[in-house]
Amino acid sequence: MLQAQRASQQVAVRRLRHAPVQLARKTQSRGLATSNEPYDAVIIGGGPGGYVAAIKAAQHGLKTACIEKRGSLGGTCLNVGCIPSKAMLNNSHIYHQTKHDLAKRGIEVSDVSLNLPQMLKAKQDSVTALTKGVEHLFKQNKVDYIKGTASFVSPTKLSVQLNDGGSTEIDAKNIIIATGSEVAPFPGGAIQIDEEQIVSSTGALELKQVPEKMVVIGGGIIGLEMGSVWSRLGAQVTVVEFLGGIGGVGIDEEIAKQFQRILGKQGLKFMLNTKVLSAEKRDGKVYVKTEAAKGGKEDTLEADVVLVSVGRRPVTEGLNLDKVGVEVDPKGRIVVDSQFNTTAQGIKCIGDATFGPMLAHKAEEEGIAAVELIKTGHGHVNYHAIPSVVYTHPEVAWVGKTEQELKAAGVQYKIGKFPFSANSRAKTNVDSEGQVKFIVEKETDKVLGVHIIGPNAGEMIAEAVLAIEYGASAEDIARTCHAHPTLSEAFKEAAMASYDKPIHF
Ligand SMILES: Cc1cc2nc3c(=O)[nH]c(=O)nc-3n(C[C@H](O)[C@H](O)[C@H](O)COP(=O)(O)OP(=O)(O)OC[C@H]3O[C@@H](n4cnc5c(N)ncnc54)[C@H](O)[C@@H]3O)c2cc1C
Repeated sequence: MLQAQRASQQVAVRRLRHAPVQLARKTQSRGLATSNEPYDAVIIGGGPGGYVAAIKAAQHGLKTACIEKRGSLGGTCLNVGCIPSKAMLNNSHIYHQTKHDLAKRGIEVSDVSLNLPQMLKAKQDSVTALTKGVEHLFKQNKVDYIKGTASFVSPTKLSVQLNDGGSTEIDAKNIIIATGSEVAPFPGGAIQIDEEQIVSSTGALELKQVPEKMVVIGGGIIGLEMGSVWSRLGAQVTVVEFLGGIGGVGIDEEIAKQFQRILGKQGLKFMLNTKVLSAEKRDGKVYVKTEAAKGGKEDTLEADVVLVSVGRRPVTEGLNLDKVGVEVDPKGRIVVDSQFNTTAQGIKCIGDATFGPMLAHKAEEEGIAAVELIKTGHGHVNYHAIPSVVYTHPEVAWVGKTEQELKAAGVQYKIGKFPFSANSRAKTNVDSEGQVKFIVEKETDKVLGVHIIGPNAGEMIAEAVLAIEYGASAEDIARTCHAHPTLSEAFKEAAMASYDKPIHF
């Protein structure tokens, strides 16, 4: 369909990239190949929600454009989130393991030292390769990639300030907002982020040297991952957390306690039930003032670098949402119904900019479902089956309900656990901390939640997600043959433990 138009569209966009200012000025009057034929779908934001939606829309034969202001695709995830943090986690783990763990495995290595600039470069190389990869996928799928900042003129028209200068207008039958999230400032403005000494996760991925002392404000996933990176590279890390446990929303309390014990053994210090009041820079140091969460006992921590990781907030500023009647809730999230429709006709919203966990894979699922809804009228995301993973070592991963949630809801359940210390592969790998914990419905054995702390938990959780997606019982999993010797046998045995007895424990 519309091959010729699409081809001319491609040419227009390609030309725009090569001669941006000139063409952008021209497009000011005539619009970007839109006056004759509006796009079927335009996506604002090229993060995991937006770029996946754009590719899927083009695969469905919709004439599609994606507008991204960052100058590279992949959003928070590829540029300053999932990918660079995992690069640092992986390489800092290898460094730490080489220094502290190889000798007992019969591998003698001397003169191990850190080349931080090279480690940062390796991270950046991964980011560049992956963001370019998305650009390639756009070309392959014939998605028009427009580099600029979008705002609404009407529910079917966007104005774009082009990164290379000038502006254009784009007409679209359907618009998907996928503008994602940004670092939330410290409440009350008591701490100013300078991205050098007082950093957000973005600055924590770029530190030029290993701080001697680092304070992490917030013991959620990002704080624990970045704290682990710098602890492995030699920093003394103290995590200050307002709540009584670490790991953030959705983690099972028993697993959180075990996680804290393990990270504590690795050298991270924790101050729980503690509120940060301020952070002040003085004489090359940062002084972090704290008090007990309930009030009272005050303390001051000295640090070389402070990481503020108290959450993220949706990006909606500058979109002109008022103009088109798109409502946001008091937390700044764009209000949507179960089909991702905003309060304005023809405009959907997905990913971090709206409700639900701020996770890349959640945004991707929503991107596909939103496009399927546009194309076919049907599309669905199962929010009971969205996994969460903390990529520390050991990893922590979970899906479904926690014990505390089920207790609060009065649901009768049974537990089945299996420790990695009883799993042959974990033992052989000398990497056997942690456990698999199944929570199943008492009467039916239906899997309600799975919580794993242990090596490769982030990969293993996929089996639990599938089980929940298919409404499996623990017995379904326990009677499924798992290869030996693998870590996944611990998964099978935990399932077995929830309705019968495990074999190896
Ligand atoms: C340090 C860190 C680690 C993380 N690790 C993980 C992880 O391991 N796993 C995981 O699942 N999630 C992780 N996340 C969260 C994950 O990055 C987000 O949930 C995900 O990126 C959200 O995708 P999105 O498409 O909704 O938004 P984003 O990725 O935020 O993308 C939105 C894009 O929209 C663009 N944009 C905004 N406004 C406009 C506009 N007006 N015009 C044009 N473009 C615009 C932005 O420039 C941005 O590129 C991490 C986040 C951080 C910060």
